[in-house]
Amino acid sequence: MTMNGTTALDGKVALVTGGSRGIGAATALRLAEDGADVVVTYQGGAEAAEEVAAKITAMGRTGWALRADSADPQAVRDAVTAVAERFGRLDILVNNAGVGVLGPIGELTDADADRVLEVNVRAPFLFAQAASAHLAEGGRIVTIGSCIAKRVAFPGATLYATSKAALIGLTKALARELGPRGITANLVHPGPIDTDMNPAGGPSADFQRELTALGRFGAGAEVAAAVAYLVGEDGRYVTGAELAVDGGFAA
Ligand code: NDP
Repeated sequence: MTMNGTTALDGKVALVTGGSRGIGAATALRLAEDGADVVVTYQGGAEAAEEVAAKITAMGRTGWALRADSADPQAVRDAVTAVAERFGRLDILVNNAGVGVLGPIGELTDADADRVLEVNVRAPFLFAQAASAHLAEGGRIVTIGSCIAKRVAFPGATLYATSKAALIGLTKALARELGPRGITANLVHPGPIDTDMNPAGGPSADFQRELTALGRFGAGAEVAAAVAYLVGEDGRYVTGAELAVDGGFAA
């Protein structure tokens, strides 16, 4: 908050995919705290998504929960169109929605492969494609990758690691393609973050703690802070970059 009461993202409109829970919800709330109106997408968690939207509205911004299954290309396109129609602009896209399907390679099915690649890879591409028609100079795309994209520290991650590593190429290509329009694209790699997907009390939690330098799980808000930096004015010269928020998992 500045001295005259405005905040860094005042007047901006952000779309956070998978904003009903976990890292996405924390990011949506942080961007609203920084001044943005925020739309969150979700697939099944309508109630949780509405709660996030209500919290944003209670902060004096506009919050909107929009059902859009990332696995459905038309739903993705419709979501972006709906945001542009309602607000007349789109400034920030956070590609966060993701699924974690782990298991021995011999047990992973075609349906698993489709699901992980559709939600974790195709959707970020489609959201970026649709958003690029609306983003203006100063626009921002941040995608949530994973520390697993850089260091696959345990077995069972063939699909998940493939999907997250693909986002490195997507981010660099977006940076090159949209840079001339003054739009940045970056990738944030969270380490173990305490969410429904990866609870700090889960069966592999202690093992994951040991893989970090700091010896602990992170919080969604700690990832959200990195996103806030990248989408804010201070992040304007950062593009095509990967930022690890992983407690030293990759160190
Ligand atoms: P959660 O499982 O806690 O939340 C996932 C969010 O994504 C929910 O809002 C969920 O919506 C949404 N979502 C899932 N599938 C779809 C879909 N098909 N369409 C639309 N929305 C969907 O996950 P996290 O917060 O932990 O993870 C967020 C991102 O961070 C993911 O990309 C994940 O891979 C990444 N990540 C997480 C780490 C961790 O340790 N937690 C570590 C590294 C990366 P709904 O409520 O409707 O199901």
